[in-house]
Amino acid sequence: MTDTPHGETRTKLPTECLIGGVWRPASDGAAFDVVDPATGEVIASVASASVDDGLAAVTAAHNALESWAATAPRDRGEILRRAFELMSDRAEEISELIVRENGKALPDARGETAYAAEFFRWYAEEAVRALGSIGMAPSGNNRILVQYQPVGVAVLVTPWNFPAAMATRKIGPALAAGCAVVLKPASDTPLTALLMASILEEAGVPPGVVNVVPSRRSGPIVSAMLHDPRVRKLSFTGSTEVGRILLHEAADNIVNASMELGGNAPFIVFDDADLDAAVEGAMIAKMRNGGEACTAANRFYVQDGVADAFTERLAARMGGMKVGSGLDPGTEVGPLVNETAVADVHALVESAIDGGATVVTGGAPLDGKGCFYPPTVLADVDANAPFLREEIFGPVAPIVRFSDEAEVIELANDTEYGLVAYLYTSDLARGLRVIERLETGMVGLNRGLVSDPAAQFGGVKQSGIGREGGHEGLLDYLEPKYIATDL
Ligand code: NAD
Repeated sequence: MTDTPHGETRTKLPTECLIGGVWRPASDGAAFDVVDPATGEVIASVASASVDDGLAAVTAAHNALESWAATAPRDRGEILRRAFELMSDRAEEISELIVRENGKALPDARGETAYAAEFFRWYAEEAVRALGSIGMAPSGNNRILVQYQPVGVAVLVTPWNFPAAMATRKIGPALAAGCAVVLKPASDTPLTALLMASILEEAGVPPGVVNVVPSRRSGPIVSAMLHDPRVRKLSFTGSTEVGRILLHEAADNIVNASMELGGNAPFIVFDDADLDAAVEGAMIAKMRNGGEACTAANRFYVQDGVADAFTERLAARMGGMKVGSGLDPGTEVGPLVNETAVADVHALVESAIDGGATVVTGGAPLDGKGCFYPPTVLADVDANAPFLREEIFGPVAPIVRFSDEAEVIELANDTEYGLVAYLYTSDLARGLRVIERLETGMVGLNRGLVSDPAAQFGGVKQSGIGREGGHEGLLDYLEPKYIATDL
């Protein structure tokens, strides 16, 4: 047992690779430190899996696949249901661990834990719904049968910003479909993924069905796994830059690839919007997870008639947020994940200021220990400012004015990304008209939050390929087999 920051006790955290049901160090003994971004202190030393470990994990998954795929869908679902219950029972412990390795404020971490557990519940229910079809051929002479089968061994690669939810959003549907997986979590936040794996073990997942290989050697280990012919699926969530590399890697063996990549969400407020609702929605769309979300509002486009009022109100709300260690009572904004993130966010703010933007609140890293950046609102931002093409990934809200519908549609679509957009208007016809022309996979209409395990999540353009969540998330791990018959 170890002490927690709150003085309670809990069982020791898993810090080794999980391969074939055995927790073990890296084959060459390598390890890396996980650091608390609020204090800079080392929380744990974690095994850094080697290429050999990655391939051993593929072997373990391959060996476990046949019997897991043949396990009754109801039984697979019951195991996922138990994992949901265990996560819910241990929600506070999981949330605190997320705060310690990722930095986010405890209320955000609690939200993530509930969201993450919900993927296990949703896919516990979906496991029994991988039903095929039977129909008559147009000639009337024979029937066409379609059956769904698990795609096979899946390699899952996840980012640090939602260390629990990005893992369960993949493991849930993969296990429901009958696939065995190897998870490579982000090296900033491997502890939550390892805890998820131990919960899945406790829930009854057989050895080898879920393997986890934390590693600082992400490129070589993922590449080796993608070039192993036993791997049939890659599901990646992370930056567009790394997604592009992995799509190239997956191309060699034509590995089925799903990509959940970066975003650059426009948040559009028309003059006729309910301003209270728009500010409330902006707080969620911008500040959930401290701005470190692919769905984070990245560019605010506000129509001339309400631009001043919206800016003033958003700045008052953001400027009043309590910044601090994620575990301190009352903290609303935790530190960014590491020092590089602080430097990156500040470089974007400086480039905005150089381009003529006005700082309404925030605008510079906070002094002292820890990776803290204050909530920042930038007004008078030039619509063509180069930094608006970048994913900010921090608590910064740049506000651009616009005058008409056609102009804002053009501005919103002027990006290589296409994950999500937010739109506030009281005119539903206008809302739907604009939404039809927005090049994104998801839209929040008078709502600042789109993520829901029951809904399909994903982007267009360079924000990704495929969908996670909902029934579609299950289909991502299934292959349809068409059976031609003379029946
Ligand atoms: P990242 O692309 O740097 O890393 C993602 C994962 O890939 C990590 O596990 C990392 O270790 C691994 N990785 C890095 N380089 C690799 C390589 N060469 N080969 C194989 N694996 C490699 O992303 P990040 O910084 O962890 O996460 C932030 C990014 O994730 C943002 O762009 C954000 O928008 C995106 N994201 C997207 C979604 C979505 O659903 N669309 C959700 C969350 C985060």
